[in-house]
Amino acid sequence: MEEQALSILRDHGLSVTTVRKGILDVFLKTGQALSHSDLEGQASGQLDRVTVYRTLQAFVGKGIIHVIPTSDNSLRYALCRDACVDGHHHDRHVHFICHHCGKATCINQLDVPSVRLPRGYRMQEVSMVVHGVCPNCD
Ligand SMILES: [Zn+2]
Ligand SMILES: [Zn+2]
Ligand SMILES: [Zn+2]
Repeated sequence: MEEQALSILRDHGLSVTTVRKGILDVFLKTGQALSHSDLEGQASGQLDRVTVYRTLQAFVGKGIIHVIPTSDNSLRYALCRDACVDGHHHDRHVHFICHHCGKATCINQLDVPSVRLPRGYRMQEVSMVVHGVCPNCD
């Protein structure tokens, strides 16, 4: 587990710091999408809001985690499983958000359906969030 965090940071060209490693460890341990407040609560040591924010921004920028858009403005982040690189994500999967527990999940086996844009529009990114009830709450 420890080694995994270190190699992820190195592979993505980030120097290893206690905070980065700590936050990455939380993602690896839980295997879930996490919000800012989840991380402030779980990562060891006193992590202030700004530090968590900056670290997450760096991870997103380097292709380590991706953002799951939610309707309530509380962003969730999840580890990238595809080969995302610096400044370029390939997370084309569907995201699911449960009404009951509020948990966001990456549905990695389900790709976002392709859309055909009218002439003149050029797609850069597409995302899909499905809202409903997860298996735990059903
Ligand atoms: Zn990604
Ligand atoms: Zn649920
Ligand atoms: Zn995802």
